[in-house]
Amino acid sequence: IERTLVIVKPDGYRRGLTGEVLRRIEAKGYTLASLQVMTPDRERLAQHYAEHEGKPFYEPLVDFMSSGPATFVVVEGQRCIEGFRILAGATDPTAALPGTIRGDLGRDWGKKVQENIVHGSDSPESAEREIGIWFA
Ligand code: ATP
Repeated sequence: IERTLVIVKPDGYRRGLTGEVLRRIEAKGYTLASLQVMTPDRERLAQHYAEHEGKPFYEPLVDFMSSGPATFVVVEGQRCIEGFRILAGATDPTAALPGTIRGDLGRDWGKKVQENIVHGSDSPESAEREIGIWFA
């Protein structure tokens, strides 16, 4: 069975949207296999976001992601990687379609980083790598 790593990011946590995100995942029919609330440390964020190192939004991204608690969730279900990315919507919350998590609940706050409520793995390889980082 396929698994994906979902993170309800610190903006989602601060705004009290964790339950709403988990509700949508369960309503879609996926299973919550494992769940942990923690403030992500910069060392593991550097591993998680290694592909973005050097990009202009990298430092603001690590600052934002380490700014407070986030909820890490292993989600299971047939084609849940693709399915969750469709539930999440486009990276830019202003452009994300209504009906998606980012489209319904997100907006541009004028920050250097897109505070877009959730993360979802983009492939089976990423999912296993990311789950290994956060659920070691
Ligand atoms: P998606 O689910 O759309 O792929 P993602 O979270 O996987 O989103 P990435 O391209 O991996 O997107 O980028 C990681 C995170 O970095 C984004 O979720 C967003 O918070 C931030 N980000 C990405 N691109 C930009 C950008 N051009 N400007 C500001 N922040 C960005």
